[in-house]
Amino acid sequence: MAPTVAPPSTSPPSHPPSRSPSPSPVLDRRRSSASVILRSVLEHGPVARSTIARLTGLSPASVTGYCARFAEQGLIREAAVPRRSGGVGRPHLPVDLDRSRFVVGGVHIAVPYTTVAVLDLRGRVIAEKRLWHQGTEPHLVLARAADGLAALLTGVPGRTPLGIGVATGGWVDPDSGTIVEHPLLGWRDVAVRDPFEARTGLPVHVDGHARALVNGERLFGRARGSRSLLHLFVGNVVDAAFATHDQVHYGPRSQAGAIAHLPLTGGSERCDCGRTGCIQAELSERTLCRRARERGVIDSSNPMHVVSAAASGDPSAVRLLVERSRAAGLAAALLLDVLNPETVVVTEIGAMHREDCLGALREAVGPGRAESVVPTSFPESVLAVAGGSVALDVLYRDPLGFAGSAAA
Ligand SMILES: [Zn+2]
Repeated sequence: MAPTVAPPSTSPPSHPPSRSPSPSPVLDRRRSSASVILRSVLEHGPVARSTIARLTGLSPASVTGYCARFAEQGLIREAAVPRRSGGVGRPHLPVDLDRSRFVVGGVHIAVPYTTVAVLDLRGRVIAEKRLWHQGTEPHLVLARAADGLAALLTGVPGRTPLGIGVATGGWVDPDSGTIVEHPLLGWRDVAVRDPFEARTGLPVHVDGHARALVNGERLFGRARGSRSLLHLFVGNVVDAAFATHDQVHYGPRSQAGAIAHLPLTGGSERCDCGRTGCIQAELSERTLCRRARERGVIDSSNPMHVVSAAASGDPSAVRLLVERSRAAGLAAALLLDVLNPETVVVTEIGAMHREDCLGALREAVGPGRAESVVPTSFPESVLAVAGGSVALDVLYRDPLGFAGSAAA
């Protein structure tokens, strides 16, 4: 018997459904079956419905019912080439995600610039643009980002945007869609949803970038299937996120992952908090760039210029990057001691671009655990993926609700 499916909600969920108290266990079960099936298509597609049933343990009738609904909504379609099992019987028409129809918008707000992007349902970046801040006044930054994203979405005709994900560093509360505190931008209690909703009419979801990238890694990256996953983000902001199975830990008011002021062994950098050697002060890209300027390596504030200098053989640039990656490894080791995750993903510019940096990072983590540490799966577009993953995580947790509300 085909399952009855939940009617599309009239309004999109205002925050990731995983953390919202559900009014109905039946609705929860449907959400969860729908989620498991669409995730299976994401992971294995093109894949036969019978295989999905086998992989998920759901009944073939249930899988067929949900797949019919997804196809109706335009999330999946039958793949072009039928596969026969042993050449007899009915052909098995595999299903796959329909990447030609829906997209999501992704926004990442960094200290010097905002990244706006359009991603398909596999988390692949279709279009991306960097908008340098002309000041850090929140409403101006957000208005430019909303305009920039709207223009980018218009630039990919024939695709329907399902929603927008916004990610940033600092303390972000997804429930209220607020950046509670982002000290490096000087932002406090900035409501992020409204400007994007007003400009585009799309549902908007907001989260911290370390958590967003945990979701990106478990959906689209090489950490897929990991039972426990830690993500360490080392940019200008340094923060972390942790997930067991598919659940990212948020904690009260979504404050989990604030590691900026943990002490780093051997740290010498003065921090704004008054202490010396805090993780963020030590590892921040600002610190890297300042040290590189002091050594005459660069004359800018762009950490990629340090990477370029190292690539063209500047030994001071190489040393700075390797030292920083080693320090990032010490930070990862500290978190490994506390959380003991199966996999650690590190987003750090040195380890992303240089083998010697990744080697130094792994060495600092220590033998026996080094192999569990991997660089981000998205070296070319990590910030775009962070933004897009906020929306795509909501889609894959509650496909019928998310796509249904967009279609309505
Ligand atoms: Zn501090």
